[in-house]
Amino acid sequence: MSSYDEKPWLGIYDKEQPAEITPEFTDALAMFAASVARNPDGDAIRYFDGRITLRELDELTDAFAAGLLDTGVTPGDRVALYLQNVPQFVIGLVGTWKAGGIAVSINPMNRERELELLLKDSGARVLIALESLHRDVAAKIVGRTAVQTVITTSELEYQTTGDERVFAGVERVRGENTVDMAELIDRFRGRRPPPVSFTPGDTAFLTYTSGTTGPPKGAMNTHGNVVFNSQAYRQWCGLGDDDVILGVAPLFHITGLIAHITVSLLLGVPLVLFHRFEPAVAIDTIRSERPTFTVGSITVFIALMNAPNADPDALASLTKIWSGGAPIPPSTVKAFSGAFGQYIHNIYGLTETTSPSHGVPFHAEAPVDEASGALSVGVPIYNAVVRVVGDDGRDLPAGEIGEIVTIGPMVVPGYWGKPEETAAAIPGGALHTGDVGYMDAAGWFYIVDRKKDQINAGGYKVWPREVEDVLYEHEAVREAAVVGVPDAYRGETVKAFVSLRPGRAVTADELIGFVKERMAAYKYPRQIEFLDEIPKTVTGKLLRRELRARERT
Ligand code: AMP
Repeated sequence: MSSYDEKPWLGIYDKEQPAEITPEFTDALAMFAASVARNPDGDAIRYFDGRITLRELDELTDAFAAGLLDTGVTPGDRVALYLQNVPQFVIGLVGTWKAGGIAVSINPMNRERELELLLKDSGARVLIALESLHRDVAAKIVGRTAVQTVITTSELEYQTTGDERVFAGVERVRGENTVDMAELIDRFRGRRPPPVSFTPGDTAFLTYTSGTTGPPKGAMNTHGNVVFNSQAYRQWCGLGDDDVILGVAPLFHITGLIAHITVSLLLGVPLVLFHRFEPAVAIDTIRSERPTFTVGSITVFIALMNAPNADPDALASLTKIWSGGAPIPPSTVKAFSGAFGQYIHNIYGLTETTSPSHGVPFHAEAPVDEASGALSVGVPIYNAVVRVVGDDGRDLPAGEIGEIVTIGPMVVPGYWGKPEETAAAIPGGALHTGDVGYMDAAGWFYIVDRKKDQINAGGYKVWPREVEDVLYEHEAVREAAVVGVPDAYRGETVKAFVSLRPGRAVTADELIGFVKERMAAYKYPRQIEFLDEIPKTVTGKLLRRELRARERT
């Protein structure tokens, strides 16, 4: 028994709050079904002028599931979603569940090599893609994967309701195994797929992360994880029937999946979407739709503050704001509340904790660690038990800095098809986060560093090895080491140290262009420094830490 088992943080909870919550549903589909029964005519999704009610979403996803079954999908098959923040993401996700499948969420910024890796790793049988992403990226690699059916769709599809529906008119890449999502839905309209039943341990979706140990791995977020953290958000953030959710986080990321999609399915309230986050559009949408709740990375809130159409009243409705995924400068919280009168609550978690494990309670404001200047990430949420451990794996007392280890119903059971990586990161169900921090005497947690090599560019995570591997493909590069360096807007950005082969020449711009063509846009180095030699240990291991430390002094 250590002080962590006594949960000192419960003293910080609102006295009205329960210390624990009990799951009310076995799976995410049951949550949605209850909302449809309760409020069929309420809006489930608002997308520009388009509206989809809960009943319509139920019917659309029935038809889509029937269509998926017709393409040969069987229970447990993986269906990949390669989409921006469009209603089809929600239709694809719920439809996949109704067909008994597992959704695989893929970052729409991913390029050919990244997409191919995830499709192969997950063994996805169906790919749902925006037409433009299919044409420009997926069509080039899909033949090399297990995907048998590609379902394409357009970001314009649900922008307006009824007769005014606009179709995209983008050039389509058509093949024998490519079908249009709207056509598929129309073909199966009125059909109901046979009922499916999941257990809480069944995987709801795979979300890809570099985690603490390197190459992308599919975290298996179970239906039990999803139900638990959807209810946790509802309780923690004081959400109810009158809330309207603003979707500013990418839906493919665990924050978007839970804090936007599954929380809205649980509550049966509208989710307001725009396919790409643009601050001025977001401000106009907030004024017209009056959303009350959102969760996003701090860069989103900085962008809202700087939007040309922002004024003190712009965000009046948005009284429940949480921000996670990256450290928040305390000065930004202050500036934001000065501009809009709203307080940004910090929230912390990982893909492997199915969104939050810690958060600042609704009624509280986060303290700041004087030594590091770090804003507290809050306190462990409900049933979570969180420890801070030393290098020997033993619990450290309050005030001492070590690795954050999280245990609880939000932690995934493992990574898809990767027992060794699972055993290394989540031994006995205890997630070793790779984040370094401490708990103060009252129970507030602070993240002050990280053990893992991961770079955090405004919430987007970059694994240095992935970028180095691409740099090594350039014929002039002898050695490359990639690190995160401080950046005023993103918190951190990507920098590459490169040494060249004798007699070869290449400019920084050429190398940046080389990586840009091959990877998601947030991964390419913003800075390149040429060195004669990259510092290494005697065994030849790159000294990334030394390079990183040099950039911070
Ligand atoms: P992801 O798997 O993309 O959700 O990234 C999880 C990682 O983001 C964590 O391990 C932390 O390093 C970082 N992170 C998440 N939330 C916060 C926060 N509120 N403050 C600082 N870092 C955070």
